Amino acid sequence: MRAFDGDKLVLATHNAGKVREIGALLAPFGVEVISAGDLGFDEPEETESTFSGNARIKAHYAAKKSGLPALSDDSGIMVDALDGAPGVYTADWAETPNGRDFPMAMEKVWTLLEERNAPEPRTARFCATLCLAWPDGHDEIFEGRVEGHLTWPMRGANGFGFDPIFVPTGFDQTFGEMDPEQKHAMSHRARAFELLVNGPFANLKRS
Ligand code: IMP
Repeated sequence: MRAFDGDKLVLATHNAGKVREIGALLAPFGVEVISAGDLGFDEPEETESTFSGNARIKAHYAAKKSGLPALSDDSGIMVDALDGAPGVYTADWAETPNGRDFPMAMEKVWTLLEERNAPEPRTARFCATLCLAWPDGHDEIFEGRVEGHLTWPMRGANGFGFDPIFVPTGFDQTFGEMDPEQKHAMSHRARAFELLVNGPFANLKRS
């Protein structure tokens, strides 16, 4: 596994929620983080059908364009009674002509579950794949997931995306209701991040 020995990293995402969460996870390592959005990069098309495939596309694109190592996150929610949908297409389910509408996407998911008479608990998992890519084409992949179930109506204004309807196993609150620190301690993204920390970041000092 290749070690990360730089002091600057591009976050290959335009998603403000991910920038916030990954920025918080990276904060103790003293690495300067710049987002692809801040650098004015466009977003490459996510043409793969797996989280890792799309994470690779995003990280390599930002690493080549910036000449710096780049970290991407491809993530989504997989609902068992919907055969794993929306999965890698989670963000697409929220697309409207005026931008992303997550309350609409969550309603779509819940309506489908109702139409299918899906039994409760309506189990689901958040999945995250991080890809750390270098400008020379090398990459490392880290995957994390968190199990839980969906609830309705939406609850909580913290987090982003599908957080207001996801209750992690063993808890009563949705990710949308939890303090960010509590979500960060158990989330799919935090679990993938832990693998990165114990791999390429293992030599970096944590403050
Ligand atoms: P993409 O990885 O940019 O294709 O988008 C993944 C989508 O999955 C996001 O836009 C969110 O809707 C959803 N998602 C991923 N991680 C989370 C999370 O931690 N909370 C809520 N929604 C998430």
